[in-house]
Amino acid sequence: MLDVVVVGAGQAGLSAAYYLARHGLVPETDFVVLDANPAPGGAWLHRWPSLTLGGAHAIHDLPGMKLPAADPAEPASAVVSRYYGSYEKTFELPVHRPVKVQSVHTLADDSAMLFPKDDGGVPADIAGPPLVVETDRGAYETRLVINATGTWDKPHWPHYPGLGTFTGRQLHTHDFQSVAEFAGQRVLVVGGGTSAVQFLLQLADAGMETAWSTRRAPEFTSREFNPDWGRDVERRVNERTAAGLPPLSVVGVTGLPLTQQYQNGIAAGTLVSRGPLQRLTPDGAVFEDGSTFEADAILWATGFRAALDHLAPLKLREPGGGIVMDGVKVARDPRLLMVGYGASASTLGASRAGRAAALAALDRLRVPATA
Ligand SMILES: Cc1cc2nc3c(=O)[nH]c(=O)nc-3n(C[C@H](O)[C@H](O)[C@H](O)COP(=O)(O)OP(=O)(O)OC[C@H]3O[C@@H](n4cnc5c(N)ncnc54)[C@H](O)[C@@H]3O)c2cc1C
Repeated sequence: MLDVVVVGAGQAGLSAAYYLARHGLVPETDFVVLDANPAPGGAWLHRWPSLTLGGAHAIHDLPGMKLPAADPAEPASAVVSRYYGSYEKTFELPVHRPVKVQSVHTLADDSAMLFPKDDGGVPADIAGPPLVVETDRGAYETRLVINATGTWDKPHWPHYPGLGTFTGRQLHTHDFQSVAEFAGQRVLVVGGGTSAVQFLLQLADAGMETAWSTRRAPEFTSREFNPDWGRDVERRVNERTAAGLPPLSVVGVTGLPLTQQYQNGIAAGTLVSRGPLQRLTPDGAVFEDGSTFEADAILWATGFRAALDHLAPLKLREPGGGIVMDGVKVARDPRLLMVGYGASASTLGASRAGRAAALAALDRLRVPATA
């Protein structure tokens, strides 16, 4: 029987594993880390090659080891994969990969043990039966799970009338590789976040005809992205997750920084939204104002949702679709901690949440923290 299974070895899972080990739990004996990817890097392993280190917002350090200096022109995927790989070696954190967790459920599935829904307090120890973590390579029994599965594996595709009739190519950010694939094409980009904006600028630079659709007016902001702003974002996200509401899209809470590059894009007409889509047609799109755009390809930069399907047997979701959280603690089930969800869905938040989750786990296991 393990004390903890950490599911996911991105920034959040590695940070949690680091603090578990630092406070005395022994990797492979007391806890294991499972990851679905074939190599280190978490979601960053899959980011498109033109997303360079310099083009990413900011990649924060994992605890105990700084992100080494690297060429800002190098793809972020390569830099982060190398960093996480050397982190795992340096701190001797073996990651079992590729191992996909398919479900997490109660041993013998005794649902009678589940803690009362309205019991706001979390028991100080682990009162219920252990959890079983089922994977494509066998099962693990454990007292606790720290879930750190991010969002990359759950791309969000909105539905519009006529979606299936469009005869051109449709792809999601998840599958984007390079603007070169769209040479000579007319491309409709859907979505109001940073990925959409960056795709539009790259496509326009490469000479492609583009159109931009957003549900609301793009939320450009000239507010400085400083620590006060960060705390404000975190507070607003925490308010939602504490109420059991699903986290908003990233751009919904951060807005888009009005950089000089973005101002130029607005002036050139590239970053001017045509508004919401009404429907798709075989040849392109009709916007809500009745105007049309003939497209060869549609790029859905419509974001991601938390990848939590494997937790479905634990019945954590509220009627509103979210999970009630108290920081990293899942209110409905004290055997589960979640990192990289809600306010900790950034490299900075994930590193900090890993520590909070490890300390909460030690508290529940009644292991005194050693450092
Ligand atoms: C396009 C894009 C750009 C971003 N840019 C930035 C940025 O510049 N700065 C920033 O701070 N944040 C950025 N973010 C947010 C970013 O996702 C987080 O910063 C952070 O890297 C997420 O870390 P994580 O550990 O929570 O998740 P991930 O890095 O997604 O790691 C989750 C891991 O869990 C594994 N996993 C998932 N499901 C399972 C399963 N069922 N079984 C086993 N393993 C599983 C995955 O394979 C993956 O390795 C960006 C997000 C996107 C989508």
